[in-house]
Amino acid sequence: MQNYYQPEIECASREEMLKIQNEKLVAQVKHVYENVKYYRDLMDEKGVTPDDIKSVDDLHKLPFLTKADLRDAYPYGLLGTDLKNCVRIQSTSGTTGKRVVAFYTQKDVDLWEDCCARAIVAAGGTNEDVCQVAYGYGLFTGGPGLNGGSHKVGCLTLPMSSGNTERQIQFMQDLHSTIICCTPSYAAYIGETLKDMGLKPDDIDLKAGIFGAEPWTEEMRRDIEKSLGIKAYDIYGLTETSGPGVSFECCEQGGMHVNEDHFIPEIINPDTGEVLPEETKGELVFTSIDKEAFPLLRYRTRDICVLSRKKCSCGRTLIRMSKPMGRSDDMLIIRGVNVFPSQIETVLLSEGYSPNYMIEVDRANNTDTLDVYVELNPEQFSDTVKAVSVKEKELAAAITQMLGIRPVVHLVSPKSITRSEGKAVRVVDKRKLHD
Ligand code: ADP
Ligand code: ZN
Repeated sequence: MQNYYQPEIECASREEMLKIQNEKLVAQVKHVYENVKYYRDLMDEKGVTPDDIKSVDDLHKLPFLTKADLRDAYPYGLLGTDLKNCVRIQSTSGTTGKRVVAFYTQKDVDLWEDCCARAIVAAGGTNEDVCQVAYGYGLFTGGPGLNGGSHKVGCLTLPMSSGNTERQIQFMQDLHSTIICCTPSYAAYIGETLKDMGLKPDDIDLKAGIFGAEPWTEEMRRDIEKSLGIKAYDIYGLTETSGPGVSFECCEQGGMHVNEDHFIPEIINPDTGEVLPEETKGELVFTSIDKEAFPLLRYRTRDICVLSRKKCSCGRTLIRMSKPMGRSDDMLIIRGVNVFPSQIETVLLSEGYSPNYMIEVDRANNTDTLDVYVELNPEQFSDTVKAVSVKEKELAAAITQMLGIRPVVHLVSPKSITRSEGKAVRVVDKRKLHD
């Protein structure tokens, strides 16, 4: 039996969904044109008027918005309504530069929480569950979003926020948490701490985890599922479109269903802006079709992924997006080769190492250098220096095969790399210091 939070939407026919999208889009473009001068200027510049947008087919006529626009218009320039109608502000994590803020009316908060509720129900959540929210609370959208969704589902909600990992585990045991929500890197850390405390997955009642806010690989998923004894579900979102819950995974674990009744996704060629067909990799663009306070049209996320309308066995008809492998600006260019940190993570975990690693890029004698620091597992720690050096060479060879360039691998002692309680910082690019 499949459970849905809003089956009439999640399982709507394509025609029904298009009808919703067309109506909302036409109204939204008018709303933005009349209320957001910044975007009206962009439309005027492109010679597009609200009358040109009659359906989703006309979406491509609208101008894009980028993070640079958001910084330019900071803080109020993209507001779609009077400030007195807004009830909340959240902010990005500032992973790639200056933070931007987003505004919400009560209706915006309500719809956002519905999206998170859909994700929790898709992960098997009901009003009998105890949902431990270990995303950060505050300006970051993770905690507040899942907290609201958990309430809507009727779960008993534990607003733990992140950090204090032993206490997380103690509450998990005492209060019988069945669902945990946090970043994947923090989930891995909780799994590691559980083991360090001499506990096994059977000693806790968790059955599912809802993890997102940062890229994570399939290898990392399996690792977390094993260490916590759960099924791990992906959830995606960004502050600019509301927060987590823009898309979510179902029991198939094969990509995330986009909440298309609120967000229309497109994939574009990041260099030319051309819209690409489904099943093609490119940059993800979202149009919020019913947000009141922060109604972004054609917002370029810089996240790289693929959209697919292949039928999903869960019964949902919502389009699916693949796991973003990283943002276009996470991509490192090392000796002319494009490298995503997630590719290195894939190799490390499939070679049996822990997900605790650090990538350092620098420049020496006009050549880029790539150093990968990886923790030895406690069992390997007693190995001789010679054995460790053999392992370093083996790992370097496996990474070379994946990337096409050779790194220097440093196997370091267990627990020597800082653990993440929120979004993990895995890359230090020292070349920037020399520029
Ligand atoms: P910041 O952009 O400063 O990190 P946000 O907290 O709004 O601010 O983060 C949104 C970004 O986080 C997304 O654009 C995406 O790059 C990343 N992200 C969110 N969820 C996922 C996910 N499930 N998988 C991969 N990346 C994700
Ligand atoms: Zn599905």
